[in-house]
Amino acid sequence: MSPRCWRRAAAIVIAYALLSPSPASAKGFVLVTWGDTISHLGDVSVPNRAGLAANKVGFKSSYFGVFWVDLWTWGGEFCVYEGNRYGPISRAEAARLVGKPENEVGKPFLYRFPLGWLIFGPLIALGVVVAVLDKRKASGIAALFEDARYQKALAILNERYEKQPVQSADTQAAEREPGHDERFRAAFDAAVQHLVDEGVSRGEAERNLALMFEALSQAPRPMPVPEFRLACECGKEVVVAEGAAGSSLTCECGRTIRVPSSDKLRALSG
Ligand SMILES: [Zn+2]
Repeated sequence: MSPRCWRRAAAIVIAYALLSPSPASAKGFVLVTWGDTISHLGDVSVPNRAGLAANKVGFKSSYFGVFWVDLWTWGGEFCVYEGNRYGPISRAEAARLVGKPENEVGKPFLYRFPLGWLIFGPLIALGVVVAVLDKRKASGIAALFEDARYQKALAILNERYEKQPVQSADTQAAEREPGHDERFRAAFDAAVQHLVDEGVSRGEAERNLALMFEALSQAPRPMPVPEFRLACECGKEVVVAEGAAGSSLTCECGRTIRVPSSDKLRALSG
């Protein structure tokens, strides 16, 4: 038997399998898709057709993805196929059947690099870079908060900012109370000056203090709990939180004060 005949014989005994269907399943709002697919590589050249039950050469693979965008592909093999039936063959055989040199018959690009990677890869990489930078920035700021010089600077900032209106009232010199921005600016400058005295360059001190202040203003704060004032017949007022709605409490005078429902409480407070 010539090598050619051997190959033909091999092709004839190829076991044809049935391509598994392509199911789709919705999980929440994400449509998950998976199954087997065949990428067409070429038609079997006419001289090679004898004895083959299928006349197309393809690359069969399994895929998993969302919304028909492949995230993972595996189990790739060259095959001859017709419709949903395929029979695995070697790459060399695939090349011979389509009449091309072997190095021109390769795994499809989208098998090696599923579309999902191309779409989500850059997004994931970008997300990782942003997360790393964010973390680096956060740990940098955390180090500032642990630095005694910066702790003192923040204390100065806070103290100056709080104290200023009192000063202006005391001296009676100020025609008007300084606005929030001016008070902040003055307090900020005092804090920066402290850092400069401690040996930090002015630019760095300003930049870092601004970062710390930004971090502080973004920190979660407890929600103010609304309180309601209820008057007793004796003239005293009791302050209750909304949680006390519907209950009753005792005033200092001994009288019982009934706390209205939360709807009525809100209506009372206007
Ligand atoms: Zn009372």
